[in-house]
Amino acid sequence: MSQIDDLPPLREVVQAHGLMAKKSLGQNFLFDLNLTSRIARSAGSLDGVTVVEVGPGPGGLTRAILASGARKVIAIERDARCLPALAEIAARYPGRLQVIEGDALNFDPRPLIGDEPAKIIANLPYNVGTTLLTGWLTQEVWPPWWQSLTLMFQREVAERIVADESDPKDYGRLGVLCGWRTQATIMFDVPPSAFVPPPKITSSIVHIAPRPDPIPCRVEALEAVTRAAFGQRRKMLRQSLKSLAPQPAALIQAAGLLETVRAEDVPVSGFVALANAYDASKRAPRD
Ligand code: SAM
Repeated sequence: MSQIDDLPPLREVVQAHGLMAKKSLGQNFLFDLNLTSRIARSAGSLDGVTVVEVGPGPGGLTRAILASGARKVIAIERDARCLPALAEIAARYPGRLQVIEGDALNFDPRPLIGDEPAKIIANLPYNVGTTLLTGWLTQEVWPPWWQSLTLMFQREVAERIVADESDPKDYGRLGVLCGWRTQATIMFDVPPSAFVPPPKITSSIVHIAPRPDPIPCRVEALEAVTRAAFGQRRKMLRQSLKSLAPQPAALIQAAGLLETVRAEDVPVSGFVALANAYDASKRAPRD
C-alpha cells in the first residue's frame, strides 16, 4: 500500500506484470509516488479537470493525478503489456480512468473530452516528446482545448523550450514557437536516479500555459522564417533569409528589424513581425 492510495507499490506492480522496461518505447518508469504527486501538483488544481496523459506505463503518474482529484484521466499507452496494471487502477477509481491503447502521435483526445476543461500531464517518451509538443502548440484554434501542459523533458530540451533572446545558446525554433503562444516555466529537475532504469541525463518538469491573445500570425509562416533564420544562426538576417526571399531587405525592414542582426538576437515579437511581413510580401501584387 502507498501513501496516496491503497494500491500496491509500483515496484511490485511492475514485477507482478513482468513490465521489463523497453528502450525502444522510451520506457523509464517513476516508482516514487511522492515525486509523481509533485508533478501532478505542478499542473495546479485538477478539481473538475479532465487530464490527458501520454504513456501511463505502469501508472505511477496516473495514480498521482487521480489521487489529486482529477475528474477523469484519459491515458494513451502504446505498450499493451501495461494494460492489466492500468486496469487495476481503473478498478480502484471507477469511471475515472479511460485507457486507450495506441500511438499518441495519431490520437486526438478531443472527441472524448467535449467542452470540459482539460490539462495534459505526461512523463513523455523522449523520442516523441518534441513532436507531440509541437503538435499541441501549432493547432489552428487558439486558445487551445488544453488549459496547460505539464511535461517531462530532457533538461537540455526544457532549456530550449523556455529560452528567449537573452539566452542565445538555447534560443531557437522551439523557443520562438513556445514564446509566441505560451508562457513556459521549468518547475524542477528530476535526477536520473528517480527513474527505473535510470537514463543518462537529467530531466525537468516544464509547465506551459497558453497566452490568451498572442500576436496574430500564421504558424506556417512563423515556422518558415525561423527555419531559415536559425538554419544559419550565426549569419546576419540579410544573409540567412535569402533562402526564403531573394531580396530579404524589404522583409527585414517591414518587420522593423536591422539587416545586420542574427537570429539569436531577434525577440519572439520580431519573428512574428517577420512572419507577417513574409505573408504580406506573398500577397502583394508583383510589378
Ligand atoms: N508515465 C510512466 C511513468 O512516469 O512511470 C511511464 C513513462 S515512460 C518515460 C513513457 C511511456 O510512454 C511508456 O509507458 C511507453 O510505453 C509509452 N509510449 C512510448 N511511445 C508512445 C506513443 N507513441 N504513444 C503512447 N505511449 C507511448
